[in-house]
Amino acid sequence: MTPAGSLDTEALIVGGGPAGASAAITLAAAGLAVTVVDAGRRSTGDAVVLSPPALGELDTLGVTGLLSLIPIRHGRFLIRDRATVAATPDAAAGVTERAALLDALLDVAAGHGAHLVNGTVTAIRTGNHGAVGTLTCPGDTVTITARTAVVATGRAPSELGLPHHDDRPGGAAITRRFHHPRRDDHFDVHLPITDLAGSTLLPAYGWVHPDPAGGIRIGLGIVDDRATGLIEDVFDGFVARVTGGSDAMPRGTRITGDLRHGFAPHRCGEGAVLLAGDTAGLVNPFTGEGISYALESGRLAAEAITAANREQEPAGAAEHYTRILAGRYVGQFEASRHAIRRYHLAWRTLDATAGDDTPFVVKARQAMLLPSGLRRRSPVQRHPRIDPIKPMLLACDEILLATVRDTWPFLARLVTSGEGVLGTEVRPARLMLHAARVGGRPVDCPTVAAAIELGVLAAVTGLSVRSTSPPAPDGIHWGNNVAILAADFLLARGAALVARSTTDLSWAFADWLEDLAAVRGETARGYADPHAFYERLFEFPCRIGGALGGSGVRHGRALREFGARFGRVIGHAEDGAALDGRPTRLESSVDTLIGTGVSAIERWWSAIRPGAAWPGVAQLDPGARRDLLAHGRARYREARQLALDALAPLPPCGARESLAGLVTVAAPASYASPGPSVRRE
Ligand SMILES: Cc1cc2nc3c(=O)[nH]c(=O)nc-3n(C[C@H](O)[C@H](O)[C@H](O)COP(=O)(O)OP(=O)(O)OC[C@H]3O[C@@H](n4cnc5c(N)ncnc54)[C@H](O)[C@@H]3O)c2cc1C
Repeated sequence: MTPAGSLDTEALIVGGGPAGASAAITLAAAGLAVTVVDAGRRSTGDAVVLSPPALGELDTLGVTGLLSLIPIRHGRFLIRDRATVAATPDAAAGVTERAALLDALLDVAAGHGAHLVNGTVTAIRTGNHGAVGTLTCPGDTVTITARTAVVATGRAPSELGLPHHDDRPGGAAITRRFHHPRRDDHFDVHLPITDLAGSTLLPAYGWVHPDPAGGIRIGLGIVDDRATGLIEDVFDGFVARVTGGSDAMPRGTRITGDLRHGFAPHRCGEGAVLLAGDTAGLVNPFTGEGISYALESGRLAAEAITAANREQEPAGAAEHYTRILAGRYVGQFEASRHAIRRYHLAWRTLDATAGDDTPFVVKARQAMLLPSGLRRRSPVQRHPRIDPIKPMLLACDEILLATVRDTWPFLARLVTSGEGVLGTEVRPARLMLHAARVGGRPVDCPTVAAAIELGVLAAVTGLSVRSTSPPAPDGIHWGNNVAILAADFLLARGAALVARSTTDLSWAFADWLEDLAAVRGETARGYADPHAFYERLFEFPCRIGGALGGSGVRHGRALREFGARFGRVIGHAEDGAALDGRPTRLESSVDTLIGTGVSAIERWWSAIRPGAAWPGVAQLDPGARRDLLAHGRARYREARQLALDALAPLPPCGARESLAGLVTVAAPASYASPGPSVRRE
């Protein structure tokens, strides 16, 4: 539909791609009058990969059911052809036609009452009463006024006259469809890519996946604008490499486009204009993934606008939005931008540690390559359960972010809520804050909570420093070097936080770190009880929480005892999960857990087969594995009961219930029950 004269609307969306459509659906569903202007310059004939988070967003928008998807069941990152990160353990990702996705999104937006206009917005600015845009349609120029506008053109904001920052695209991507006999449900990302001579690492990645029209789709992204001139040649080389140069017959044309990854949250909202999707620079430079960020940022912009309107403060939307973006994408895009700048360090470390699954290396790799996580996000919960420590946890996260983001941005990703280094529920900060509630004295201690999280992350990082780590071909132990640097940095920052906020605790904090280091040394040499590591990790947060909250001697002792026993519960849960082939919190395999000295599995073995040498996990026959698992489950249940018993001296209160609740989520319910193992051989 083409408007005549001027047009006034509550929300103007410029661009009807994934970001604009997502904003339009969310705003129209909230009852706002929405106008979407789209120039219709969409690439056709292309397919797109929808990652698990993208599908989660599409669920929230009510679009998934309208799409025909080819499922992706196995996603892999191949570093120098060695598989490292498995991205989709279940059928959570998919491929679809780009045009079908866009049509479905705009249909849903129209269904909610959004007004769709074909045309090009040539300029936009903040006026006295909101946003003012100039719309050009065939034969007409129209002035549009809106309370707020979302710019989601996929292009530089300066094209519409918005303040000029560094607007150059960060890189470019190219894709093409091929006839190919390969029939599977794999999505492979290859990195790094070398130049045509095969000698220089390029800031590039390539991908291959099944095509909705049959055959395969191959793509390549280069994330440095100085290298994009090479893209066609490098792409040809990559196609030849992954197809063996034989079976693949090109189909359709090559599709190319810019990749924009210059995200900076504070630039994404000024006055009445918010930026979303590619215009906000939200493309992952390690994978080229942009659709999930476009969908999510469009939704977040819309939510910021609705919240500001509800509070009768439409001008507050920009501030609210930029704050949310800063928290949501912390450590993701910063990591990536740093990675480009410090290209050699990031790529060499990834390259040299491809076969390493020690906790820090795995987590760092995931934070770089898969910052949005591995799993499909469930539709957004609009009414979260009220949690008394949530405000303090959020404050703790803000301190953590401010502490680490500038120097080690991707570490920020590991420490923030929702992802915590040991998982959401068993975050040490959570234990400390619940323990602090027991004494009844109001406490405000997010800085100590943040310092404890840094100490725990440093200890976990230390597990990746190994004398057996093989050097890279250049003779450098990149994995060890990075782990040592990161652990030192975390310890220093944690100690500084405590010294600044609660000087009295400085000695106790330093003693804890020293104790952890000593235990690490002993476990690494096989001298200590392997679960002593976990015991020390959790005893301190509970002890300090008790002290800060004013718990008396008896309750303080109970909390301390509880923390130590809770650590053992986690140790048994980790061992059981690793042995059973389930994901562990430390994300390491049984062999690595044993190798780092924090696994009791060899002790379980000595208990069930006295005198027999540990055969190694790979040599376990099914019967031995079953016996070992049964033994581990029994030890786990004992540890769990001991932890719950430790709470007995505490007065009945919400904090005690919360601590008991954490014990029950340490392992899946099936593991806690006395039945046989659920593992199928
Ligand atoms: C070759 C290539 C392959 C890719 N493959 C994938 C993939 O498989 N999976 C993935 O997650 N990401 C992929 N990406 C990234 C992804 O395509 C983008 O991140 C995503 O499309 C961004 O969505 P957006 O809504 O911000 O912008 P866009 O998708 O670019 O949409 C912008 C819309 O705005 C309209 N528009 C532009 N200017 C104006 C204007 N002035 N006035 C009005 N309307 C305007 C355009 O017509 C368009 O419809 C790929 C990128 C490239 C270049």
